[in-house]
Amino acid sequence: MPEDFKVTPWEVTGDIDYDLLMRQFGTSPIDEALLERLSGYGPLHPMLRRGIFYTHRDMAWLLNEYDKGNSFTLYTGRGPSGNTHLGHLMPWIFNKWVQDTFGCDMLFQMTDDEKFLFKDLSLEETGRMAYENALDFVALGFDPKKTKIIVDTKNVRRMYPIALEVAKRTTFSTAKAVFGFDNSTNIGSIFYTTMQSVPAFLPSADAGRQVPVLIPCGIDQDPHFRVTRDAAPHLGYPKPSLIFCKMFPGLNGGDKMSSSDENATIYTTDTPKAVKKKVGRAFTGGRVSVEEQRQLGGNPEVCAVFKYNFYLFEKDDAKLNELADKCRKGEILCGECKMCLTERINVFLEGHQDRREKAKDVVGDMTYDGFEW
Ligand code: SF4
Repeated sequence: MPEDFKVTPWEVTGDIDYDLLMRQFGTSPIDEALLERLSGYGPLHPMLRRGIFYTHRDMAWLLNEYDKGNSFTLYTGRGPSGNTHLGHLMPWIFNKWVQDTFGCDMLFQMTDDEKFLFKDLSLEETGRMAYENALDFVALGFDPKKTKIIVDTKNVRRMYPIALEVAKRTTFSTAKAVFGFDNSTNIGSIFYTTMQSVPAFLPSADAGRQVPVLIPCGIDQDPHFRVTRDAAPHLGYPKPSLIFCKMFPGLNGGDKMSSSDENATIYTTDTPKAVKKKVGRAFTGGRVSVEEQRQLGGNPEVCAVFKYNFYLFEKDDAKLNELADKCRKGEILCGECKMCLTERINVFLEGHQDRREKAKDVVGDMTYDGFEW
């Protein structure tokens, strides 16, 4: 089957075939039975109802352990290479729902070492971005008593022995096969994946017992966690369970919002004016003229404005369906639709920016092992 897309932890391009990706990675679909089971713990998050989180590894085992009283720790993270955008927030918002629903502890890993090794950035820059990105994470309202932030270069003393255990059991040939490294890859990059394994094992190492871990993240991160899961039994830890989401789309109609196209990316620090400008230029499924659109209708399936409502900004399924319907019938025009989305994003960002300021007072208390920022 021809593939015109690429999904790796460092590069996502083309029109992603998510079902094909699931088969290639060997993950399981989130089917009706699993959704039904999850709905027993609380109302399903729209990202589950809409199939944005669509595939997983070992969720049934994780829930069985939870039902037996062996609660899990959540683990997700961020590679701090620039300002936070809506695409980063999306899986964190889902993590917050999991924490609220299951009352679990959470580890949030800032992989400043990764971004230093893979990008043209200094450690100072990645360290500064780790702090800035952490403010966005904290602003989402995670329970400060149950949530700890790891920064790899700050917590390395605790992490290194576990990373070494993983490294000893991971061959160069595996790293090449999983990540596509070659002779020009710097050796830090080859080692790095072991650091991303550590938070999957830390809860067990810290507690001295087998603590299940759930990692909600983008499907692009699966290669790292295949290495983690392979190493787990050798280290005597449970394999982490995973639940994966699709990529948050760009305003330009692309399958992934990316910082490489700033005009198609909404940052958490954007002004209302900047948001208006960016949404105004968004790719839509509209027609070339008002007359044509009234007559033939638009296409919400390909429309970035509709996708933003689908992914984040319209939580009510009935209203979302109504919007799609009106669009197809030509009863709403793109200008009106863009104005409505702009308003929604700006209302969200106003609250977020306020909470982000307040996060500065608590982010110091949420560091793993109490490091100083
Ligand atoms: Fe997209 Fe709205 Fe235009 Fe339909 S009317 S194509 S949903 S912007």
